[in-house]
Amino acid sequence: VTAARLAGTELARALREDVAARAADLRAAGTPVRVAIVVATDDGGSAWYVRSIVKACEKAGIEAGVTDLGPAATGGEIATTLQKLSADGSVSGIILQTPLPPGVGLSAMAENVDVAKDIDGVNPLSLGRLTAGVEAFAPATAEAVVRLIEHHGIELAGRDAVIVGRSLVVGKPLAQLLLERNATVTVAHSRTRDLAQVTQRAEVLVAAVGRTHLIGPGHVSAGTNVIDVGTNPTEDGGLAGDVSPDVAEVAAGLSPVPGGVGPVTTALLLTHAVQAAERAR
Ligand code: NAP
Repeated sequence: VTAARLAGTELARALREDVAARAADLRAAGTPVRVAIVVATDDGGSAWYVRSIVKACEKAGIEAGVTDLGPAATGGEIATTLQKLSADGSVSGIILQTPLPPGVGLSAMAENVDVAKDIDGVNPLSLGRLTAGVEAFAPATAEAVVRLIEHHGIELAGRDAVIVGRSLVVGKPLAQLLLERNATVTVAHSRTRDLAQVTQRAEVLVAAVGRTHLIGPGHVSAGTNVIDVGTNPTEDGGLAGDVSPDVAEVAAGLSPVPGGVGPVTTALLLTHAVQAAERAR
């Protein structure tokens, strides 16, 4: 048996087309979509990611502005910048790029992003609202996992879903999104005893850990659909997932890395920007 390939490229293309059409309508109405990206790092991976977001925005007819405060920026400078952008009526959505300078906490900074413009769901209020079932933007990666599952027609209601990883950007918000869709959700992490025993009961398994090929065939049961969120840099400059390719011999479905969650994440970030602009009209 070989698992079905749960690719995200087709879904991402459809999302981008929808975004471009809605962004054009907003432009024609004189209220163009504008995304502000705040950067305070000289990390190479981050620079690559920011460029890819800017490019994706431009392709979709969304204006993207980068405010680069440099790696020596203070928490005060970052907070003030976020407050100004939050108050700026011409800005639809705000992205706070990580990593932040040493000693500057993400949640404390993210509290300065207006919830209505928090298109990557980093403000703790956004996660709280999501948990309470009040309208809010989920972190794009967490939402991308759910959209990918739904796109491939995988049932969630009543199913056992196991998430490995409990970060604020993926595991925790994803648990809420899956609960909302009536899955029975288990969240595993680095202190989980006997990870394989926990993951083997999953009908839907999501790996969001950041460890190359941590999840092997012994973690997965026949019939499980596996979503791989991991993007671990390889020595040859490529990307490796958190799930070993051998899992494809056991699982019902497996999302590729790259080409799975990643492209959907970027497309959803743009979708959120358009939604924020539409609501602000
Ligand atoms: P993170 O903040 O480092 O969180 C990793 C989580 O994995 C933590 O909850 C940690 O547990 C858990 N963990 C670590 N080692 C473990 C082990 N041996 N067994 C079980 N759990 C373990 O990472 P993240 O930001 O969520 O990112 C996870 C991965 O997704 C990374 O590869 C990242 O690059 C990727 N990512 C991809 C996208 C995309 O668009 N495709 C977006 C964001 C992130 P503790 O909480 O106990 O420490």
